[in-house]
Amino acid sequence: MIDNKTLFHISYGLFVLVARQGEKDNACIINVAQQVTNDPLQLMICVNKQNLTHDMVLRTLKFNLCPLSEEATMKPFQHFGFQSGREVDKFAECRQELRTDNGLLYLPKFINAVISCVVTKSIDLGTHTMFIARVMEARQLSASPSITYAYYQQHIKPGPRLEVGGQNNSDLKPHTSDMKKWVCEVCGYVYEGDELPDDFICPWCKHGKSDFKLME
Ligand code: FE
Repeated sequence: MIDNKTLFHISYGLFVLVARQGEKDNACIINVAQQVTNDPLQLMICVNKQNLTHDMVLRTLKFNLCPLSEEATMKPFQHFGFQSGREVDKFAECRQELRTDNGLLYLPKFINAVISCVVTKSIDLGTHTMFIARVMEARQLSASPSITYAYYQQHIKPGPRLEVGGQNNSDLKPHTSDMKKWVCEVCGYVYEGDELPDDFICPWCKHGKSDFKLME
């Protein structure tokens, strides 16, 4: 048997992954990044193919990996994680001079380091691509500890917020209906209805049904 919750015992970090193609800067949030060898200094990241940043890294073979720190609020997750670079310029209001030697951007806050890499190998994993990369530059930016996915769940993610009939009910009125409710475990969005459709996609964070839990 496979108890999927067993996988929650593996620890994950959270990172802003930055790429640049032509004049376009973009970034997304990833939770799989790891140093894999020391000599040469190499690391591994896994990126969902649905992310524009994925395609940019695949084409340019360059990225900046920025570990999110305990200074992070929900803002970088919403800004870089819950919207697509295909629709918005995520760096429109960012200081453009904050670039590493490879010409890629990094954030002025919320992160504690920036690691510039060149991809040496990519492995197709179906929904994701694993990139193996050489570290070319690495700068520490803050002494604030890196966050884990568990830290995000406990300290950063907002509590469940109810959305009824497609309208965001932001004043947090108490539940009055007896319909069932499912909460997105990634972002806190609440779906209310008789049944959560199999193809439901969270409107806030774009995760699917498997990330929703029935509220008691
Ligand atoms: Fe969500």
